[in-house]
Amino acid sequence: MTAIVRATAGAAPPPHPLRQHLEHRQQRLLDRLGRAARLRARSAMSRAHRDLCEVTECLRLLEAPAPPRYAVSALFLVECFHELTKDEDEQLFFVTGPESGGVLVPCVRVAFAHEHRSAVGVTGDTADSHRALINLEVAGHRLLAHCHSHPSQGLSSTTPSGTDQGFQRRLEGAGYPAVGAIFSRDGFVRFFRSNADFTVEVFGAGVERHGPHAVRLPFAGAAR
Ligand SMILES: [Zn+2]
Repeated sequence: MTAIVRATAGAAPPPHPLRQHLEHRQQRLLDRLGRAARLRARSAMSRAHRDLCEVTECLRLLEAPAPPRYAVSALFLVECFHELTKDEDEQLFFVTGPESGGVLVPCVRVAFAHEHRSAVGVTGDTADSHRALINLEVAGHRLLAHCHSHPSQGLSSTTPSGTDQGFQRRLEGAGYPAVGAIFSRDGFVRFFRSNADFTVEVFGAGVERHGPHAVRLPFAGAAR
């Protein structure tokens, strides 16, 4: 999986102008600190050290990866809901889509075979899910989300299980920018990653927000 992601990484981006500015300032402050130390100028050393700490902190913040941002249509989520709840058994599929201006837009379902499905669990076929990921790579797309259903109702029924969290950690560890989505039988959807620092914008009328990462869908179906 790691090799797949590396292949999509492409050429390194050009240096960020602000980062370049801060790195030059950091070097000048290091020189100034060295000169002050040689002259044993304590107050100059103190000022240079304070400024150096500020610049270093700015560089650290600049280099920290931005939290993932997702935008998804409520119409697409309703379509997913119907697919995930069309029979009694749990269902699971991947989702891909475009990435624009740093926003990830899951909107294309990617199906793969299942090894096992029942009312309380679903397991993807390993070989077929890998084939699906390779096909995405060939098409220049990345895995942006994975959706599955839970068998019960209510927001609390969408809490990720230990298996769900483990699967998500493995995807993130392999470099996939994917978010998990768990659907209840009555139209609640919870998005999750191993770190809660991400945003999901659900586009469309009638969507009820339930906290930063959960919604209830409009027109989810007869179960409501
Ligand atoms: Zn689950």
